[in-house]
Formats: sequence, structure tokens, C-alpha cells
Amino acid sequence: MSRRSGKLRRVLSRFFKERQIYHRSDGVVHFISMSSKTQIALSIVIGAALLWVAYSSVNVVFKEQIIVAKERDSRIMETTYSKRLHDAQRAYDDVSSLNQIIQQNFDETMVDISTRHQMLRNMVERKSTIDQGLDALAAGLAEAGDPNGQKPTNGNRVMVDIAPGEPTPRQSRLSVIRKAAESMPQDPAGSESGGTSGGAIDLMEKAETDLFVEQMLLLAAVEEKANAERNHLKLVLTSTGAPVDALLTPAKISNLVLAQGGPFIDAANMSGTSSEFFHHANRTAAAVDELEAMHAVIKYVPLSSPLTVSRRFTSGYGVRRDPINGRHSSHHGIDFAAPWASPVTATAAGVVKLAGNRGGGFGRMVEIDHGNGFITRYAHMSRISVKAGQKVNLHDKVGELGNSGRSTGPHVHYEILFRGKPLNPRRFIEAGRYVFES
Ligand SMILES: [Zn+2]
Repeated sequence: MSRRSGKLRRVLSRFFKERQIYHRSDGVVHFISMSSKTQIALSIVIGAALLWVAYSSVNVVFKEQIIVAKERDSRIMETTYSKRLHDAQRAYDDVSSLNQIIQQNFDETMVDISTRHQMLRNMVERKSTIDQGLDALAAGLAEAGDPNGQKPTNGNRVMVDIAPGEPTPRQSRLSVIRKAAESMPQDPAGSESGGTSGGAIDLMEKAETDLFVEQMLLLAAVEEKANAERNHLKLVLTSTGAPVDALLTPAKISNLVLAQGGPFIDAANMSGTSSEFFHHANRTAAAVDELEAMHAVIKYVPLSSPLTVSRRFTSGYGVRRDPINGRHSSHHGIDFAAPWASPVTATAAGVVKLAGNRGGGFGRMVEIDHGNGFITRYAHMSRISVKAGQKVNLHDKVGELGNSGRSTGPHVHYEILFRGKPLNPRRFIEAGRYVFES
């Protein structure tokens, strides 16, 4: 330590030897003596001053560049930051808009499904109400049996199994609908990625497709049954010999469709499956409307017999030998023999138009107006149980069997008039059997 400081002192004393500075002015020589210490102190002061000047110069020269560099750095940072912020915002927007699309999609799907469900339910309910009415009619008609009073062994309606031997058209329709469902556009990315959201969407779409197929099948089943029942009832009506076209004018049906409203929805501005469903739904609603119209007509057609008790068919419709004077004459009705005072009953619902003795050999007679141009007559009764203007239902008692008027024995003379012209009642009673027999 002491050796090193001694060395430093030697070096310093070599550099800063004691010096004398001579200076002459006005012939006088002065000298200033400078010790080593003074020289060192002076060197430090001068060195410090030089350093300060150097630093200041550098600072002045480079300050602007430093500021510019700093500003550039902060600008870069700012740009990077705002770019990241923007990216994040965009990613968030993408996610939230995707979410919104999915939500909207889901909501629309739910609305579609529930609208379709509501329609189906309405149609099935309407169809079921009509079926109940038809079942009641069939059960009522079954009470009277065939023209001779034979009751059916089984009371099943024909329309339940209208064509059991045929391959069910529903199966062919099923494959068509399945094919349509398979060809429906599906998201290929969703099935590839297998992501959780993609998987959930796929599941939802699959469930919706399955439900759609089920709903289409139900719709097809309702339409098929409604059409089959309507066709069957039309056959029943046709077999009565009454002019069916006069009973079921197209105007009547279209009025009914308009009145019922139905689920008519303009499918023109829809696309894909919804439009397919609504087209089919409108068609099915029209089929149910037509069945309803048919039911409304057939309910008031006299398809039963004026006697529900055991009876004997004694005289047919048409030209026959008159039982009293033996001459050929036209018989505008049919005759049934049964025990005295057997109840004579209305062959369909209607309003009593006439109750009393109208003359012309009919004796005590009741006339019932069933609407749609149908009137029934029950003649030769011993007693009348209704009054004009009274409403009657199928098989309501209108009087008792007798022998009044131009009659050779206790029987009921029964007539059906359509728009004033007589028709063969036997054909109506036979037709009635096809409503309840299989
Ligand atoms: Zn007669």
C-alpha cells in the first residue's frame, strides 16, 4: 500500500515538478513559483472544466436525436399497443357476432319448431274432433242396423282400415322425407373441427332435422287419413244416389277454408325446410277442411232407418201394384212392418217441418227438414210425439207406428225427398251401413 502510494507520488512529482514561470514587464522580471500541489489542483480544475464542456457539447449535439429516438420508440410502442387492442377488439367482435348469429339461429329454429308444433296440434285436434263426430254418427247409425234391422257383428267403421292390403304410402313418403332431410345443407367445417361449440351446433341441427322429419311424417299421416276418410264418406254419399256434387260445391269448401282460416301462411318468402313444411301444412289443412265440410254435410243426411226396433221390410221403392186397388202405381217411399206403437224415429238430425194429418192418404205424418235440401217423411202413424219447429236428433222419437190414412195394416211409410224429388230410402240405409260396418 505504502509502496504503491510512494510510486504514484514519484510519477506525479515527475509530471508536476516544481516550476517557475518568468514574466517581464517594464524591464522588471517577476516569477511565479508553482508547487506540485498547485499544478495538480490546477490540472484537476482544468480537466473538470474540459469534461464539462465536452459533455455539454455532446448533449447539445445529440439531444435532438435522443428526443427523436425516444419519440419514435414511444410511437412504435403506441402503434403496437393500439394494433393489439384493435386485434383483441376485432376478435371479441367476431366471437360476439358469431355468438349472436348462433343465438339468432337458435331462436329462429325454436320459433320454427314451435310454430310447426302449434299448427300440427291444431290440425290433429281438429281432425280428432271430426273423428269424434264421425264415431258418434257411426255409433248412432249402428243402433238401427241394416234395412231389416240386423245389427253389425262388429261396430268398427270401414274407414279405420280403408285399404289394409295396399303397401302403406307412408313408407314411400318416409323415404322421400328422409332423403330430403339428408340432402339438407350441413356445415362441413363443424363436423370436421369437432370443437365443442361445433359439436353442440351439429347436435342441435341434427335434433332439429329429426324433429322436422317427425313433424312432416305426422303431417303426412294427418293428410293421408283426412283424405282417406273424406274419400270414404264421399263414396258413402255417392252410393245414396243423391247428387253429391250438388251437396259439396267447391264454393262451399273454399268458403269453409276461408272461414276456418286454417294455418295459411304465405310460403313464398320462406326458404328450404320451413317452406316445405308450410306448403305441406296448407295442403293438409285443406284436406282437414274438406273432411270437416264432408262431415258437416253427412251429419244431416238421413242414413238410418225410421225404426230401430226389430222390423220387416215390406215394400220397396218404385212402381208396384197398389195394395188397395191393385193398379200399378209409383211408390215414392219404402214400408216397414213392426208391432203396433213401435217408436218411429228420426233418420238424421233436423227440424220438424210438419206434424199432423196432411191428407193424401198419409194419415198422421211427420216431415223433418235436415237442411242441404233433404226432407224425410214418416206416415201412417198412430200417434205423433213432436211439434212443428221442434229440433230433433238422430233416432229421436217422432211418433208411434200405426195404420192411419190409406193403409192396409200397421206399418210406417218412409220417404226421402231431395229438393222436392223423391229418392230411394233403401239406398240411404244401405249407404249408412258403410259408415259403421267393416
Ligand atoms: Zn208406403
